[in-house]
Amino acid sequence: MSELRASETQTRISHLIFIVLLCKKILNRPIFVVMEEMYRNSDSQYDDMQRWFAYLRRHDANIFDVFFKDKENISDEDIVAIIEDVAKFFRLPVPVIQDKCETIAKIMISKEGTECELYYDWKLMEKAGINNVDTFRLSIVHELSHETLFQTRFLLFENELWIQELAADMVVGAFSAIGSDVATGKYKYVLRQLPASMTHPDGELRAAIVGYGREYITQLRKQGAIDVIQEVLKGLPAFVYGHYQELQESWNHVRWEDEQEDNPIETAPIDYESLPDTNLIKQSYLKYKASKEDEI
Ligand SMILES: [Zn+2]
Repeated sequence: MSELRASETQTRISHLIFIVLLCKKILNRPIFVVMEEMYRNSDSQYDDMQRWFAYLRRHDANIFDVFFKDKENISDEDIVAIIEDVAKFFRLPVPVIQDKCETIAKIMISKEGTECELYYDWKLMEKAGINNVDTFRLSIVHELSHETLFQTRFLLFENELWIQELAADMVVGAFSAIGSDVATGKYKYVLRQLPASMTHPDGELRAAIVGYGREYITQLRKQGAIDVIQEVLKGLPAFVYGHYQELQESWNHVRWEDEQEDNPIETAPIDYESLPDTNLIKQSYLKYKASKEDEI
């Protein structure tokens, strides 16, 4: 009886294998098709789907999106054209461009604010995740915002440098919503990796103000306001006061760490002999000492 069942099962399996092979031969395609492969058969539909996914993640990119998706080749000419374009947006003269920098990018402005040099390191930028036109453009917007705000003092917090950084990132957020919709996902990801320092606030807060800048300018536009950067920055105090405790705690911590670096705590060697006899560390120490004396 059981032999009969076994042969029946064998026959069924061979029938199934035959049907699968036949299907594969006739259709010349895998039996189990994933959605993406199905769309790939139709180039235009596949491209539409990819564009739709890129659109969905444009302001909220994860680590995988940042390093493997939406990358673009940017030539030296493209870089210059983007910088010129952003300078035009701020109505600033094109800065002197230096393609060597010890950090991702920085701007040096003369004391009088009349001369400006923009430094960047494209290799470091790519490594950090700044690997397409939108993200590079936003990085330049951040740097040139510093030039625009060179004379401005916000006096909202005891570290003015931090507020200048938040202001520049708020302008980045606003810029991304003016004219064409510039993707901010990768830019915010890069910011989130940066810890608070003496000169820059925590990257999470900087990423948050990019989103806030976008929302703020959208509200201004609904009220019919014109797209002027100074108008956008009227929203900065509300953000700073809304995150005041966070800023203060972070700043206290950065200062404390800075003081520790300057004055490292001297740790005195422990006097084991002075510990009570019941102390286990003292007991181990005495045991170790006795064994060493025995060796001698
Ligand atoms: Zn900055």
